[in-house]
Amino acid sequence: LAQDQSYRLPTHARPSRYEITLQPDLNAADFSGHVDVDLEITGSPRRLVLNAVELEIDAVHLSAAGTGEDLVPQIRLDEAEQQLILDFDQELRGPARLSIDFRGVLNDKLRGFYRSTFRRQDGSEGTIATTQFEATDARRAFPCWDEPDFKAVFAVTLIVEEGLAAFSNSQLESSVTRDDGTVEMRFADTMVMSTYLVAFVVGPFYVSEPVVVDGIPVRVAALTGNFDLYRFALQVAEHSLRFLAGYFEIPYPAGKLDHLAIPDFAAGAMENLGAVTYRENLLLADPDAAPQIELQRIATVIAHETAHMWFGDLVTMKWWNGIWLNEAFATFMEVTTTDAYQPSWEMWKGFSTAKSGALGIDGLRATRPVEYPVGRPEEAEGMFDVLTYQKGGAVLKMLEQYLGADVFRRGISHYLTTHAYGNTETSDLWDALEAISGEPVRTIMSTWIDQGGYPVVRASLSEDARTVTLEQDRFLYDGTTGHDDRWAIPVTLRASVGGQVVSERLLVAEPSARHSFEAPVDWVVVNESAWGFYRVAYSPSMWSLLLGAGLASVLDGQERLAVLGDTWAAVTAGTVPLSQWSEAAVAVEAGDDPEAWTSLALSLKALERAGDDADRDALAAFARRLAEPVWDRLGWLPTPGESDLVAVTRARVLRVLADSGRDEALAADARDRLSAHLSNGGLPPDLIGACAAISVATGGAEAFETVLKAYLSAPLQQDKLRFLIALGDTPDPSLAGQALDLAVSPQVRSGDAWYLIGGVLANHSTQVSGWEWLTANWPRVAERLPQSLLVRCIEPVATFTDAGQAALVRSWVRARPEAELPVTPVRLAQILERMDVTVAMAGRLRGQIAAALG
Ligand SMILES: [Zn+2]
Repeated sequence: LAQDQSYRLPTHARPSRYEITLQPDLNAADFSGHVDVDLEITGSPRRLVLNAVELEIDAVHLSAAGTGEDLVPQIRLDEAEQQLILDFDQELRGPARLSIDFRGVLNDKLRGFYRSTFRRQDGSEGTIATTQFEATDARRAFPCWDEPDFKAVFAVTLIVEEGLAAFSNSQLESSVTRDDGTVEMRFADTMVMSTYLVAFVVGPFYVSEPVVVDGIPVRVAALTGNFDLYRFALQVAEHSLRFLAGYFEIPYPAGKLDHLAIPDFAAGAMENLGAVTYRENLLLADPDAAPQIELQRIATVIAHETAHMWFGDLVTMKWWNGIWLNEAFATFMEVTTTDAYQPSWEMWKGFSTAKSGALGIDGLRATRPVEYPVGRPEEAEGMFDVLTYQKGGAVLKMLEQYLGADVFRRGISHYLTTHAYGNTETSDLWDALEAISGEPVRTIMSTWIDQGGYPVVRASLSEDARTVTLEQDRFLYDGTTGHDDRWAIPVTLRASVGGQVVSERLLVAEPSARHSFEAPVDWVVVNESAWGFYRVAYSPSMWSLLLGAGLASVLDGQERLAVLGDTWAAVTAGTVPLSQWSEAAVAVEAGDDPEAWTSLALSLKALERAGDDADRDALAAFARRLAEPVWDRLGWLPTPGESDLVAVTRARVLRVLADSGRDEALAADARDRLSAHLSNGGLPPDLIGACAAISVATGGAEAFETVLKAYLSAPLQQDKLRFLIALGDTPDPSLAGQALDLAVSPQVRSGDAWYLIGGVLANHSTQVSGWEWLTANWPRVAERLPQSLLVRCIEPVATFTDAGQAALVRSWVRARPEAELPVTPVRLAQILERMDVTVAMAGRLRGQIAAALG
């Protein structure tokens, strides 16, 4: 059977260079353009096919290099395939130049060439034009061969109103004022690159002074002239560029690097070569006034995008099935780079929390392999999820640990050098790593990349306490196993043998494996530092040895998270009693570790939703037992010289106590402190979000109003977001209704609405009314939000605990045609399966929680 490949472009014409001139009109929200494309034509076609959509084509002609003939084709636009078809009445040969005049609209859909609005200092509204092309929206801005392996040079000219700044991928070469007063800005030729990485940004931007890194000017640009907000991004950008050029041992491939803050943005950021675009809140922050967690997030996003300049931009996937490798690798590098920037942030431990999200999805029957065949580019849309980013990043980290960090790094450098300016398949990376390491990388990695799911390693100890037996099964949240699935698992055991701590590495590729120690062990940790992407189920005797030795003293930070996560997953699957989790929750002694508190808070929340009133009373007491000693020690105010992570911990412990612990006095204190802060400042930055959320959760209509006002009046995007998210914490369905209406009003940016909608639906007190609102208002929501973010509004149904409610969700989803619910079938199936898992867990635990917590 022949596969339908009508969406693919014929390869008998290949572009080598584009000269693009665009003149956007920000007031009229449209643009006109001209493109000259140098082509190499092979064979003797009469037809050229390239991509274009939602463009008016005014004129097309082709000049053949040899003859100088000027040919005018018949033009046809195929809307469905998004193709521009040019039919000539003679055969075409050799090099030629294709010239096209076209016009288009600056749309509001946050893709292609689009407009975004912002408030000027005087309160008036301003407009900018910007681009987002990945995966296939360059064709909305100019006719082009819009597939990643048609790499070419781009020479861009932007004609803009006087006084505006303009950015593209390379340095500005000249800027000339024309007779009509507009300014023609010419940018230098780019390296050869894919169309999805081209960028144009035009608006009244302020630009920082450059920081020069090995001859490359690095700048930050945004629509605010408050340069205090640029300082942190510039520092991180400088570090990232220097660190990554050193890591890859390859100079930065473009002539300059701009980081641009865009007010309306669908994704987090986009790795356009030399002109990276970001959501404002992921680039701008005053380091003295922003919470640690936001600074960390900004640092990782900048590092991620900078890593793409090599991995993605210099070396690019052949087709969209390779997008996972792009993103998995950038995720791996973002943590590596930020860890080097600020070791005290313990970024790999933070990544453990992100990784647990991937383990959560990948433990479902409805998971998917990380890489799968992609026909139409849209099929790759399902790749932009935790399995690509977090599982992909985690299995690369597992491989790095197995091969050794330097061998891995040299393998990556070898891959990038070999394929510079080219396109690759995933196997090219494995080949490069095999060449450098001599290890069977392809065989190992195919078990993690080409099949979905991951193993649970069941560990047991022989009578004489010398031999550990490891057995692998697929881990599944429905409590069953997949006995036929196998992984090649790099396992590192850490054991205390006669008081000496030793590490042993083995590759478990068979259903079971054994390792014998020289003498009886005191305890054994399987999955040292939790670098492996799998869960561990300890036999009762091994668990007792660990508990006896003291989890808090035996385990490192990542292992502690793994033990909490694995135990919680087993409780969710119904394979161990809840008491095992509560035992672990106490024994790990979360202390000053913010990630341990995140894990505990999520489990406590899930138990609250599952439990009945008596359960919730017991939970509140349990939460206080865990959190009170830590809060009593940390208190409201930072102590001079404390680590950045303590500030994060303080916020999380405060929420656990006020929220799950139902500490009413503390909640009242939080409300008072927020009110005082909103008039006079004074709250440490890390506590603002927590106090806002606690206020809305406990302070009724008055607190809701206060936080709403704070949202509306906050000048900065990240301040706004903090307050916006907090509004979703109201337990009052009518206030929640107000919040939802706000979410789809012009007062919330369309790219931010899901935070609030998702928050109301994840809130146990408002999820029923929230779901009613969502289903009643779905057409409005679908019209207002960027399509890629709609799934975030549906996702919280995975927290629903009531079987009747779950049935309503399921039948609503079933009744929606795909056009109304643009979520990939795999993603939908995962959401519904998670909901079933939650309902089943709640059914088992309801009424039993109080007893299990002791
Ligand atoms: Zn990325």
